[in-house]
Amino acid sequence: MTPHRKKAPFGITTLEDISTLILQSHDLDETLNNIVSLVARRMRTEVCSIYLLEDDHQSIRLRATKGLSRRAIGRVVMRIDEGLTGLAIENGRVISILEPNKHPRYRYFKETREERFHTFLGIPLFDRREPIGVITIQTVEPRQFSPEEISALSTIAFQVSSIVVNARLLDSIRRKEEESNRFARELEMTRKNLREQSREEPEEAGAEQEYRTLRGTVAYPGVSIGPANLLDERLGFADILDEEGIVPEKECEKLEGALEKTRIQTLYLEKRMADRFSADDAAIFHTHLMILEDRGFLKRLTGEIRDKQHSAPYALKKVVAEYIEGFSRMDDAYLRERAADMEDIGRRILANLVGQKTHHLHLKNPGILVAKELLPSDMATLDHTKIQGIVTEAGEKNSHAVIMAKSMGIPAIVGVKSALKLIHPDEPLILDANSGTLYISPSEQIKDEFERLEQDRIRETSRLEKYRDLPARTRDGVELTLRANIGLIGDMAIARRNGAVGVGLYRTEFPYMARSDFPDRNEQYQLYRRIIEGFGGDPVTIRTLDIGGDKALPYFTSPKEDNPFMGWRSVRVSLDHRDIFRTQIEAILMAGVHGPVKLLFPMISGMDELRGCRRIIKEASENLAREGIEFKEKVSVGVMIEVPSAVYLADRLAREVDFFALGTNDLIQYVLAADRNNPLVSKYYDPLHPAVLQVLKDIGQCAERNGIGLCICGEMATDPIHMTLLLGLGFREFSMAAPFIPRIKGFLGKINLADAREIAERALELEEGNLVREQIRRDLLTHGIKVS
Ligand code: PEP
Ligand code: MG
Repeated sequence: MTPHRKKAPFGITTLEDISTLILQSHDLDETLNNIVSLVARRMRTEVCSIYLLEDDHQSIRLRATKGLSRRAIGRVVMRIDEGLTGLAIENGRVISILEPNKHPRYRYFKETREERFHTFLGIPLFDRREPIGVITIQTVEPRQFSPEEISALSTIAFQVSSIVVNARLLDSIRRKEEESNRFARELEMTRKNLREQSREEPEEAGAEQEYRTLRGTVAYPGVSIGPANLLDERLGFADILDEEGIVPEKECEKLEGALEKTRIQTLYLEKRMADRFSADDAAIFHTHLMILEDRGFLKRLTGEIRDKQHSAPYALKKVVAEYIEGFSRMDDAYLRERAADMEDIGRRILANLVGQKTHHLHLKNPGILVAKELLPSDMATLDHTKIQGIVTEAGEKNSHAVIMAKSMGIPAIVGVKSALKLIHPDEPLILDANSGTLYISPSEQIKDEFERLEQDRIRETSRLEKYRDLPARTRDGVELTLRANIGLIGDMAIARRNGAVGVGLYRTEFPYMARSDFPDRNEQYQLYRRIIEGFGGDPVTIRTLDIGGDKALPYFTSPKEDNPFMGWRSVRVSLDHRDIFRTQIEAILMAGVHGPVKLLFPMISGMDELRGCRRIIKEASENLAREGIEFKEKVSVGVMIEVPSAVYLADRLAREVDFFALGTNDLIQYVLAADRNNPLVSKYYDPLHPAVLQVLKDIGQCAERNGIGLCICGEMATDPIHMTLLLGLGFREFSMAAPFIPRIKGFLGKINLADAREIAERALELEEGNLVREQIRRDLLTHGIKVS
């Protein structure tokens, strides 16, 4: 697949040009300016201008120009029945005139100072059949444009029209967002007032109501209460029927037009996503563009039209269905999810093909979004301030849309069967994304209970806000370090908002997963640099690729394995692909120049692997030195302790590294032989199992004995009971999902180190995990600390 087609002799006919144009523009005026500059340059003309139709549909206004006096922008307005520009709209086609000032329709505006020009070319711009403006070209030398040039100009006009329509749309969405942010603030004020009032008024006994519940898998925890926002029925493929007697050439033309529009819209989606999150998070739309440019895909479409005499929409329906079917049958979970991308693309092309205005979805009011499945383009276009929660029928937890929801902190459950059938628009819902339960039209009692919980949560969140800038300290003044686990760029803001001290674990496979091919060294360097600089001097631990297990890359073929968590995973893959590995390490070393960085290797199970990694660091350093590139020569190197063999080799590993990162998520699954993702064995996956406690204690002592750093970066530290134990065992540095940091700081403020030590000692004596939990809970209570 190649994202770029051959460059045309002039004009802006390549995707590359359009992409540059769109991605560099921040609003409609800048977009228009960029268009006129590009067209004038490519057409080698002195002037290129754009006039847009005013809201009255009777007059046009000069909106951008390259070559005429800039003072004329916004000032020159004419009716469409006057001037040569108006004539282009009236005629509905390109007009080419030599010596324009001799033409009866010529009208002179002194602001433009255009008397010097001897050629005028006007090309009308259309959105579907409606005129939206004119792009004009003027030259000093009289110039006869060839038929090829005129035909190329029509293509340009088509593209410019799409760009203008989308840029306008983007502007209006932006304005709506600003309005809705204002509205959300006002709503919050009103709610606050109401809450205060209701505290003063006696409660009325509510009549018990019938309600229903649905279950799903938790994708992001939290609770949310609100009306159901069912995603509007989108243009579907179901009712596209084949047509008789089509003219293949016409159908192919229609299809090409729709594809071109879809490409331009996709670029806008990418831009919007990049503005909201980051270029990396927007990378999924690169994949969409590649599919839209893929020769195989296009050939199959035209084949259906030319050879089988199908209409363009029917051909599209057929080919897209085949692709979806093909992707859905893939073994690899990541590739299976590309079926959703294919559907997303298919719907957008279809909308452009059969004339539906736009595919953008609008939410009228804030509420809980209920959808069959969410597509990346939905997340890019929907107004996030109106999404209080997400419920999808589709069950993939790692889909891009869900990853995006997570980085926005929106409670979400997936795999809720028949949700769309069972829930009515605006029906009241309670989404309990902690337990994976959705309450439909809940009784007053349940509502009250959740509202109380919601109030508690709001109070708790504002209470915890004060911890953001305070150090993490036990009641008796022992300081701990709480860092963030991050993946996507969007996590940076969340980490800072929650007061994380740098990053204890940067899972670099996430940005790799959000792309359509391996990022090159420079792209990786830029990304790592941005993160390092974003944490303003606090250390950032970058873990090298940890793919395999349940994490796959779309563009990297991995063998089908019966037992992937025990298989070709993590550093094993990196060591087998030295070039990819070395590139990543080079990028990390280069980024290390911009702030304190630590290099972490995942899933180390033996000394040979660590030494293999060290050799790659050496090669990477030599390469960079040879190329004369600045890099961090002495980088702190650590290994994840997450495999039992590493626990047994801990002393030897400690002699050759600067720090350990304890990955409790994997460590528990490998020590207890209980798959971390398998609900059937979740009761065996016990962080408080005596064997796990012993391992934790041993690793803590080993790090201390060897004088190296140690950070706990699995999920374990987010639970106060676990935290009590870890504190008592001597751990002082933790890394976790950032939203937990204020809560854990709040908890630490209540406990004395001496008490935690005693509690941990007692816990180590016990022989069953559930006894440990109960014991710690009771012990905490005796110190006046209640935990759930
Ligand atoms: C772990 O295994 O504990 C860990 C932090 O890494 P991951 O969850 O990415 O495997
Ligand atoms: Mg791990």
